[in-house]
Amino acid sequence: MDLYEYQARDVFESHGVPVLRGITATTPDEAKQAAADLGTPVVVVKAQVKTGGRGKAGGVKVAKSADEAAEKAEQILGLDIKGHVVKKVMIAEGADIAEEYYFSILLDRAERRYLVMCSKEGGVEIEQLAVERPEALVREPIDPVAGLDEAKAREIATKAGFDDADADKLAPVFVKLYEVYTAEDASLVEVNPLVKTGAGDIIALDGKVTLDDNARFRHPDHEALVDIDATDPLELKAKKLDLNYVKLDGNVGVIGNGAGLVMSTLDVVAYAGEEFPGKPSPANFLDIGGGANAEVMANGLDVIIGDEQVKSVFVNVFGGITACDAVANGIVKAFEILKANGTEPKPLVVRLDGNNADLGRKILDEANLPGLERVDTMDGAARRAAELADQA
Ligand code: GDP
Ligand code: MN
Repeated sequence: MDLYEYQARDVFESHGVPVLRGITATTPDEAKQAAADLGTPVVVVKAQVKTGGRGKAGGVKVAKSADEAAEKAEQILGLDIKGHVVKKVMIAEGADIAEEYYFSILLDRAERRYLVMCSKEGGVEIEQLAVERPEALVREPIDPVAGLDEAKAREIATKAGFDDADADKLAPVFVKLYEVYTAEDASLVEVNPLVKTGAGDIIALDGKVTLDDNARFRHPDHEALVDIDATDPLELKAKKLDLNYVKLDGNVGVIGNGAGLVMSTLDVVAYAGEEFPGKPSPANFLDIGGGANAEVMANGLDVIIGDEQVKSVFVNVFGGITACDAVANGIVKAFEILKANGTEPKPLVVRLDGNNADLGRKILDEANLPGLERVDTMDGAARRAAELADQA
C-alpha cells in the first residue's frame, strides 16, 4: 500500500523524523481555516495524490495568506495529475529552503538487501538524475542484519559529497528514516526533497512510503491508512468474500483453481487475444483455490460478471482433490444463485480437465446453462473466450 504524503508525514513524525506541520483540507474553506490554524506567514498547498511530479503539474503552490491558501486550494482541488483527481490537499508550513537533497531506502530483491540512495541534488526527478548524472547519486547496499547505524549513515553522506557539518546533521535523520523503514515494515521510504533550511535545519519536506501489505497483521494501526475510496470496489467486494482477486485492464474474465494455473491462463488468454482485431486480454486474476465449491464459484462469477469491462468469462479448472464433477455441480449451483440474484449472465467458456473430467463435462452438458460453452483444451477455450469478448 502506498501512503499519501500527509500519511507519510504523520508516520515520519511518529518516529522523530523532522517534518513541518501540515493539515489536510477537502474544500477551499477548510484550506483557509488550516492556513489560519498554522499561523505561519507562508504556507504551501499540496495536492494529495499517490503519484509524483505534483510540483510540475501545478499541484504544489505557495500562499502568503489564509485567503490565498483558499484560492490555491480551489485551483488544485479537482486537478487531474497523471490520471489522479485531487480530492484532498495538505496545507503545510512554508519552508525557507536553502538546499534540496534526495534520500531513499528500498528493498533490493535481487541482492536480498536494502538499498539506500542519496544525493546532494534533490528536488528533481530522481529517475532523470540517475540517467543523466549517475555519479551524483550514491547507491549503498544495507545488510538487513547489520542495519543502518549512525556511522554508516555518515559514511553515506560523505560519499554523497556532504561536508562534515552537514553529515553530522544528516546522519541522525537517515537513521530515523531507517527506523521508519524497518519498524513499519515498509518496502520504500523516499524523501524528495530532504531540505536544509536557511537556519541550517534538516527537514523531510516530501515523503513517499510504501508499506508491505503482507506484514499488515503486525500493524493493526495500518488498517486506518487504507483509503477505501481509492480502492477498486470490485477488489473490495472480492476481499470481503475472501477471494484472491486482482483487477486488470482487459475484457476476458478469468477464473481458475490454483494460482499457477490462473497465471498461465492469463498468458494463454493474452496470447489468444492477439489474433483478434480488438486484442481482447484478461480482465482479472481470480484464484478460487483448491476447494472450488458452489458458493465460492458463485461469488467468483458474481464479482467478475459485475465488472462492466468483462465481455466474456473463461473458467479454467483442473480437477485434483476437488474432482471435476464437484466443480461442475458448483457451476450449476452458481448459475442458480446468480439467477436468484437477478444477475444477467455473460458468455462463459468452461474448460474442465483432470480428475473425473468426463463426469463433470456430462453434468454441464445436461444442465444446458444459458451462454455456457464447453471447450476441452486450454488453448481452444482461451481462444473461444477471446473471440466472444471481441465480438461483444
Ligand atoms: P512532488 O513534485 O510531487 O515531488 O512534490 P514536492 O512536495 O516534492 O514539492 C515539489 C517542490 O516544491 C519541492 O522540490 C520544492 O522546491 C517546492 N516546495 C515544496 N514545499 C515548499 C515550501 O515549503 N517552500 C518552498 N519555497 N518550496 C516548497
Ligand atoms: Mn517530491
